[in-house]
Amino acid sequence: MNLDAYRRAARAWLQANTPSPEPPGDDGADGGVARAKEFMAKLYDAGYSGITWPRRWGGQGLTQEEERAFAAEARHFALPTYVFSIGLGMTGPTLVDRGTDEQRERFVRPLLRGEEIWCQLFSEPGAGSDVAALQTRAVRDGQGWLVNGQKVWTSVAQQADWGLLLARTDVEAPKHKGLTMFVVDMRHPGVTVRPLRDMTGRAHFNEVFFDDVPIPDEHRVGEVNDGWSVAVTTLLHERLSISAGVGMSGGEDDPSGLEALRRTADTTDPLVRDELVELYIRSRALALFNQRLAQEAEAGAFPGARGSVAKLLLAELTMFRADLATRLAGPASVVGGDPLSHAISLAPAMSLGGGTNEIMRNIIGERVLGLPPGPRVDKTVPFKDLKVGTQE
Ligand SMILES: Cc1cc2nc3c(=O)[nH]c(=O)nc-3n(C[C@H](O)[C@H](O)[C@H](O)COP(=O)(O)OP(=O)(O)OC[C@H]3O[C@@H](n4cnc5c(N)ncnc54)[C@H](O)[C@@H]3O)c2cc1C
Repeated sequence: MNLDAYRRAARAWLQANTPSPEPPGDDGADGGVARAKEFMAKLYDAGYSGITWPRRWGGQGLTQEEERAFAAEARHFALPTYVFSIGLGMTGPTLVDRGTDEQRERFVRPLLRGEEIWCQLFSEPGAGSDVAALQTRAVRDGQGWLVNGQKVWTSVAQQADWGLLLARTDVEAPKHKGLTMFVVDMRHPGVTVRPLRDMTGRAHFNEVFFDDVPIPDEHRVGEVNDGWSVAVTTLLHERLSISAGVGMSGGEDDPSGLEALRRTADTTDPLVRDELVELYIRSRALALFNQRLAQEAEAGAFPGARGSVAKLLLAELTMFRADLATRLAGPASVVGGDPLSHAISLAPAMSLGGGTNEIMRNIIGERVLGLPPGPRVDKTVPFKDLKVGTQE
């Protein structure tokens, strides 16, 4: 099928199958999850989930061109795919890149079909930007492992069946060298999930506690104590998927929300026109940058740290758009339950989740521009001797 025909077929399918949007703030409800799962199964069966993922593991094995064509059409619809965004954008690609064949066989197809929901368990109260300082422990227990500790800010943990968990397996090694990655069963009775309400009024993320949670060794991803390199794979995918909006279609006419803003704005005011043009330019620049990264990836050049550029641009664009929307909409921007006020209060989260703007700048400085790295006095010190987190 040529690309135009593919795009027309995708549009027709989306028109016929996308359910009408629910009001914001209700995505924790079970009804919403059941509806999202039903939609995801239909999306998969129609061939629009995992478009570029390998056929062997349940994907469609198509190119970035089809992926982009579908995404361009999907932007016109509010797809109820939010609960799958961590699986599709981060944990799934990590399993495809770094998992064993048994793990790919077991987990990838149910993830793409929306049968199982995934979360990402990296951040802890004492380890966010410095995630390698984490303290959740996994210790050997017979053939497997036993996990104890606490995570925080874990998106969709309350709905998740499985989590990608980064845990400390060697306290004698320096902090980056004693970590291991696991797949953990979020339904085990030793896992306690406590939702945290953010300023949108939604319980988007959670605290997660692990009390003697067993993990079989077959659920280890990568080598023992090589979890940092697996985490870097996840974080690279995370930044790319956030900036490309995987699974996050908000039903806007265009990625900048420009049309919606223009409808409310006094476009005869030259200052307002200037700002709308600035918004358009920034959003086009980001879209073209993302397109270039995708084309390079297809040609075999993985974008690596340049994913952080896209993530930073998106975080800045999101804040710029929220500020402009607040000024244009006036008091309407703070009406509770309204999609606009919801989007405005959600905007700052983009500068934190997936790594803060400051951390993105550090990465870009060191890994993209080749500037000298900042001092890291703890890099070779055994973890147990560091004063981090709650460690004495
Ligand atoms: C909406 C949302 C969803 C999230 N979902 C998940 C999830 O699903 N799973 C998960 O594991 N985590 C998740 N997180 C957590 C997120 O990854 C962390 O919030 C983020 O990494 C920052 O960590 P922190 O909050 O501990 O802030 P800190 O690391 O304590 O940072 C505090 C401030 O210090 C600055 N700072 C810290 N270190 C440096 C440095 N070296 N140089 C310059 N400035 C620095 C930061 O930029 C920031 O301004 C989510 C966060 C949000 C907001």
